[in-house]
Amino acid sequence: MPHSAMLTVLDHLPERFLDTPARELHRLLSGPTLIHLPGRRTPPLFISVLLHGNEDTGVVALQSVLRAYGKRPLPRALSILVGNVAAAREGLRRLDDQPDYNRVWPGSTVHTASPEYAAMREVFQPDGGARRLSPASTFTTTPASIRTTAWSVD
Ligand SMILES: [Zn+2]
Repeated sequence: MPHSAMLTVLDHLPERFLDTPARELHRLLSGPTLIHLPGRRTPPLFISVLLHGNEDTGVVALQSVLRAYGKRPLPRALSILVGNVAAAREGLRRLDDQPDYNRVWPGSTVHTASPEYAAMREVFQPDGGARRLSPASTFTTTPASIRTTAWSVD
């Protein structure tokens, strides 16, 4: 897929997500993607992975945990942001024409005109991108719960 900085919102894991290495995720995802998965407790836990394309540990851990659950329901809903898919393809922190994905979140004072900044702002909209989900979705994203867990270091 050609890479995009626009946020895609999904209410399911893309086919083969669990066994696709970070470098190959570009085959499944066109760019930063927010994936809402239902769970027994509905307030979602926000998880971000691959903000830097050369750091795939989060993806590997996430895939491992989700594989372990298999078809069983998750104990808690998840809102998963898969970040820099395009840089992951190259094994790089970011591409030359991209901002650092750790510097495009609300509150940043740099890259505020970038499409990546606009994408991450969408994650924080009151409906967390839920408006783009299918009507069958029964969960909602609580921005307050995202806000408390979204920040990472590095
Ligand atoms: Zn990093």
